[in-house]
Amino acid sequence: MGTVKCVGILTSGGDAPGMNAAIRAVTRAAIYNGLRVKGIYRGYRGLITGEIIEFKSQNVSNIIQLGGTILKTARCKEFTTPEGRQTAYETMQKEGIDALVVIGGDGSLTGARIFAQEHNVPCIGLPGTIDNDLYGTDTTIGYDTALNTILEAVDKIRDTATSHDRLFFVEVMGRDAGFLALNGAIASGAEAAIIPEFSTEVDQLEEFIKNGFRKTKNSSIVIVAESELTGGAMHYAERVKNEYPGYDVRVTILGHLQRGGSPSAHDRILASRLGAAAIDAIMEDQRNVMIGIENDEIVYVPFTKAIKNDKPIKKELVNVLRELSI
Ligand code: ADP
Repeated sequence: MGTVKCVGILTSGGDAPGMNAAIRAVTRAAIYNGLRVKGIYRGYRGLITGEIIEFKSQNVSNIIQLGGTILKTARCKEFTTPEGRQTAYETMQKEGIDALVVIGGDGSLTGARIFAQEHNVPCIGLPGTIDNDLYGTDTTIGYDTALNTILEAVDKIRDTATSHDRLFFVEVMGRDAGFLALNGAIASGAEAAIIPEFSTEVDQLEEFIKNGFRKTKNSSIVIVAESELTGGAMHYAERVKNEYPGYDVRVTILGHLQRGGSPSAHDRILASRLGAAAIDAIMEDQRNVMIGIENDEIVYVPFTKAIKNDKPIKKELVNVLRELSI
């Protein structure tokens, strides 16, 4: 039996649909197992300022279907300093919180890893990011919903692209990871995806043009992952204007709408399973691991592994896109 009596829960960094389902799952599973739960507002900032309230089961009623995060989220510079983390530790002691569940992306889990090491606090991470860029888990909370939002948008863009015989570059999020762009392209029937993973290997625009755009189609949609490595959709639109002036080019940047909306069934179930597993891990005295899912099984991934390793893009997906977009 574990030694933890009270769990603090926070959401940090970029918000993702399904974070509320995770908050609900952690809270209910903790209470079910006889633990107390405290909700920490605005990520690590709330841990520093003490913006914390005790959560009962009712605090998480009627939230599973909501996008965003009821705990709010923030980016907190102070937490990146030893002084900031010391204050956070003191708040935890004052509040009687003896373990943390952190729901967030790469940055948030990096913060948790450093904090756990520095102050010997058990921390459990849940992968909450639309980018799907955490190693050791097949998907992350929010990714599926964001992908579905992209499809909805691209389906609409397709109507106007076809009507005008235009080439559209649609920019999606992903922060140096091409999962949303590549799978978004496959699922929406786009002609190509430009992703950071291949930005140094090949000229992806050249490839797309050479692969026969205009052989069979008059309109086309290319999904571009937002990243300094790709240069983004604007960059490619400019290039086409200069290098292939015959094309009628347009750009749509989907932006923050990709973060919103009611979470999909997949994300709600994922968040519920991962949240419950976070409490199982705490009961087993696990610490400093991210809870992931691999081949439909819950796995514990050490923070160092989840953060340091790049999650590879499957080459097979690239081939599928290429074959099906002729
Ligand atoms: P995400 O979790 O979505 O990747 P960020 O990268 O913005 O988002 O990180 C969220 C927060 O995590 C940061 O504002 C900061 O408080 C904390 N954090 C990120 N990196 C570190 C670090 N190296 N050391 C301590 N805290 C960090």
